[in-house]
Amino acid sequence: MVMGMNPFNNSQQPNLGQVNDATLMALSQQGNPNFSHAALLEQASAQQQMQRMATEKNIEVPKVNFYPSRHANPYKARKQDINQAYKLLAPTKRAFFDPRRLFRHSKYMYNKDTAVCCVDGCNVKQLIQHDNLYARITDEESGRTLWDMYWQNPVTGEPEAFIAREGVTSGRKMRATYCPEHLHLYHLLCRWEDQQDVEDEMKPSRFRDKIKRGVSIVTVPISTVTGVDTGPSHPMITKYESFFAEISADARGSNGISMQHYTNPVTGDNDITTITFDMRMFQKELMEMNQPNPAFQDILNQQAQVLAPAPTIPEAVMEGMQ
Ligand SMILES: [Zn+2]
Repeated sequence: MVMGMNPFNNSQQPNLGQVNDATLMALSQQGNPNFSHAALLEQASAQQQMQRMATEKNIEVPKVNFYPSRHANPYKARKQDINQAYKLLAPTKRAFFDPRRLFRHSKYMYNKDTAVCCVDGCNVKQLIQHDNLYARITDEESGRTLWDMYWQNPVTGEPEAFIAREGVTSGRKMRATYCPEHLHLYHLLCRWEDQQDVEDEMKPSRFRDKIKRGVSIVTVPISTVTGVDTGPSHPMITKYESFFAEISADARGSNGISMQHYTNPVTGDNDITTITFDMRMFQKELMEMNQPNPAFQDILNQQAQVLAPAPTIPEAVMEGMQ
């Protein structure tokens, strides 16, 4: 089965398995950071291998025509890539008037066998027996294969079919899976969504939403952040530990210093810490410190008249204000 439709481009674009290396290089530099050259190569070689298998073994294999967004804004490019991936990964539904859909509530075309791709009906069992492509497609960052990441039971470590879901990343589990090409796209989709979540979490509007819902931001002393439960700390962090301790101590005494931690919604780790020095707050606090309240100033002045020589007023003021 060949899927020759690309919902995003009316003009016929070659699929990644057919274009040459120079085209891939050019594509990887078109301002879409989601697609590094390595990721494109990986996708292209997956397509080539599946096509080769198709000719060698007469196995029906799909062709996934995903084409990366060329939007100049990386955030929008990723959004478009995510949308396109969702469309391409959605399980194939039966025609609306198909009697099986109407009377047997069997909405999906491929929902009976966990060895069949839910999009194209490609028989994955045959593919694996002939040549396990899942084990040949790797994540270019972690170096782990799709086989390691998605086809193992996380508890027992035994091989287990990846189960597709009705809503791609959510929804009911189907009795179907993804073929290597679709699973690769699924893997990229998950990664883009993670990246987007992390970026969204840092938007100021997200903070406002949290505060509206009664969530307050509590400063966590850095000693607990770099503690045992957060995993091994980086040597660069260890180096600055005393600095962070000082900062968090000072942050308690002044509104001009604030430290914020951004937690990764997926791993729960504290990924990003920012420290803010607010000069306006420092100046305001300094002004307040230099202007004791009038009643206290009167007492000080009286004391100055009684005692001779007079104590140095600024110091006394400082103490009195504590
Ligand atoms: Zn497929």
